[in-house]
Amino acid sequence: MLAANLRNKLTRPWFAFLCAGLVAIAAYFAIPDWQDGLYAGVGLASSVAIVIGWKRYRASQRAWLAIALGLALYSFGDIAYSIIAALTASEPFPSAADGFYLAGEVLIVIGVGRLAGTIGRGLYRPALLDAALVATAGAFIAWPLVLDPISAQVTDPLSGLIALSYPIVDLVLVGVLTRHFLYPGKKTLASLLLAAGVGVWLVVDLVYAVMSLTDGYASGDPIDLGWLLAYTLVGAAGLHPSMAALVRTSETHEVTVSNGRLVLIGASVTIPVFVFLLHGPMVHAGDYLAFGLGSVIIGVLGSVRLLGSLHSSRVLLAAQDSLQGELDRRARTDHLTGLSNRQSIVERLASDLASGAPTALMFLDLDDFKRVNDAFGHPAGDAFLREVAERIRSVIRNPDDVARLGGDEFAVVVSRCVDEEAAVAVARRIYDAFAADVRLDGHHFRIQASIGIVWCGGSDLTADEVLSRADIAMYRAKERGDGSYALFEQAMHDSALDRAQLRSDLEGAVGRGEITPWFQPIFDVTTRRLVAVEALARWNHPARGLVAPDDFVPIAELSGSIAEIDRLVLRVAAGHVADWIDMIGAPLQLHVNITPREAADPATVDAIAAALDEAKLPANCLVVEVVETALIDETAVAPVLAELKALGVLLSIDDFGSRYAVLTQLGRLPIDIVKLDRSLVAGVETAEGFRLLEGILRLAQSLRLDTVAEGVESTAVMPILRRLGCTAAQGYSLGRPMPAADFERRLVKWSRETLSA
Ligand code: C2E
Ligand code: CA
Ligand code: CA
Repeated sequence: MLAANLRNKLTRPWFAFLCAGLVAIAAYFAIPDWQDGLYAGVGLASSVAIVIGWKRYRASQRAWLAIALGLALYSFGDIAYSIIAALTASEPFPSAADGFYLAGEVLIVIGVGRLAGTIGRGLYRPALLDAALVATAGAFIAWPLVLDPISAQVTDPLSGLIALSYPIVDLVLVGVLTRHFLYPGKKTLASLLLAAGVGVWLVVDLVYAVMSLTDGYASGDPIDLGWLLAYTLVGAAGLHPSMAALVRTSETHEVTVSNGRLVLIGASVTIPVFVFLLHGPMVHAGDYLAFGLGSVIIGVLGSVRLLGSLHSSRVLLAAQDSLQGELDRRARTDHLTGLSNRQSIVERLASDLASGAPTALMFLDLDDFKRVNDAFGHPAGDAFLREVAERIRSVIRNPDDVARLGGDEFAVVVSRCVDEEAAVAVARRIYDAFAADVRLDGHHFRIQASIGIVWCGGSDLTADEVLSRADIAMYRAKERGDGSYALFEQAMHDSALDRAQLRSDLEGAVGRGEITPWFQPIFDVTTRRLVAVEALARWNHPARGLVAPDDFVPIAELSGSIAEIDRLVLRVAAGHVADWIDMIGAPLQLHVNITPREAADPATVDAIAAALDEAKLPANCLVVEVVETALIDETAVAPVLAELKALGVLLSIDDFGSRYAVLTQLGRLPIDIVKLDRSLVAGVETAEGFRLLEGILRLAQSLRLDTVAEGVESTAVMPILRRLGCTAAQGYSLGRPMPAADFERRLVKWSRETLSA
């Protein structure tokens, strides 16, 4: 199995390159005659590898080409050096080779620097400041060790300048690397390989500088290993598919300082001084100058940095407060009509019932709404709903409350409602308010609605029971079809048995093979490539046809069969995705959904581990989505989430922003991805919606969370998402959920081409 795994990996270009590089390094030390050829060969091969990767993955950043050219120049330098050394039978310095070396290094610095990305126009540029701080600290340390001795040793200005330029370019590289690593956002494998390569390069360069001071270096020295390794790592980085997605430019600036950064800043401020002083007494003016200048620069950079982060954490707290306030308001209101939403009215009902006062609940459903929508389009439908909402509101008295439950369903809670008659009176007032037609674009629409009424006086019904009774009564009114109201009666309960029928049909549906996952693609917003797929359950009911999850997941949740369904979906989907990864030879993440209850059940962890094992799907290819309501009960969910994380699985909050949206949870729970509810995405074209999404994305970025925008129904929002730094997107306009076979047919096209949006 291990061998098969290795064989499989070797077909991936980057891995094959890495292995070939290691073999070449072994040969370099084993066969001295080949040394010159191998040395230049590895360097040129890594340069070519980058160009190949750049073409193959259609990378847009030219910075990679700068690195490739830099590597090539460096290798030409090596070739030139060998020729010069052979001709003159000495090891001259400086020589023409140094021209190639320096030009190569400068190009590499520029390339890596560009790839590190641009940190936007924030108040200050923390990553840049940190980079400068670390580089200055490096210079501080390098002064007594390298810079000073070199400058003391050289005789003519040209060779002095050239000798000094190596460590100085290296210091710039230290800064660039720091900046790269401190850049917010996930590091891809390509970026890690590149950083590792550049890091190794840096270390050997400095060791070389010290060695050449004491004439301790000769070709074939063990430290040549470092350069060869650096070439190999950088070449492999260029061949990894993630090389095309190395950079995310975004306008947001970092608002929190990670612990790692604080340590880095602290170390940069303190360590150099110790090194400088420990190295020995200061002897000449240059020492004092270097010490004084270095201290001042470090002092200034350090204080600007700390003041800046103090300022931005205050900004963050204030922004978070106002964002939370806005989210809380949103969590209680229906976005379309401004009425309360389901959440809010259910809470209201529960508190009324708890107080023991008589209360009535009404469910109202428009009878012909679908026709308005179909004939005149969504905007007209929305305007119609807003008008209906306004009419209901106009006849509801304080402290009664009205909510839109979703679609064309409304609910009214009548508090302190003395008897059924009083409840019916409210319904009549609503019908009166509906008497006049709604006029839209010159058309007249009649408002016809069915209302179900439940009156509860002093009974000890729960809110759920009252809701289900109102639902049943409303359906009874609807069945009559005359646009009138119905009061709940016990007999109606029986027709609710339909649901019970569905429930019993659902038993054994898994065993009969009626449940299958469908697949919806998820695209990277920046590179516009397919990066993930969400598995969504479908129930192929023998009589009713395809049943959507919104209709059976709640039932399965109640009956407890949801865990079985989810396991099946995961098992089947994981098998497909493992195959698809092999087909396209690139990573692909599988998103699956679990219910809040499963998120609190330790057995879920074992089931997921077993499914991954069976499908041979790496754990980091799986994203488990939990709706944010699950996270309300943190104590139950946290241990299960922690175990899932320990497996290596990624975690995502689903439907973020649809209800509670507790911002602080984002930082507290071990979450990797936030899926932004489609109501947030749909609202982005209004100024208010834009600000809200921007705020959430900014916060997610500062917490280093990836974000997936859901429900992208128009490609017009893609540029906005890109600008706001959203990671990925999913929605009907990009690809609908579809059966595995359809998905597979489109897979090759998706994996080759970028999205046009
Ligand atoms: P979800 O996890 O938020 O899944 C996304 C839903 O949005 C899917 O509905 C998908 O078809 C729909 N959708 C995708 N793009 C768009 C768009 O552009 N516009 C609109 N209006 N809708 C879009 P679906 O497949 O009906 O699933 C509904 C919900 O049922 C899911 O919401 C999820 O909460 C639940 N669910 C689905 N499959 C499973 C499952 O296997 N297990 C569990 N526990 N829950 C599932
Ligand atoms: Ca989901
Ligand atoms: Ca969702």
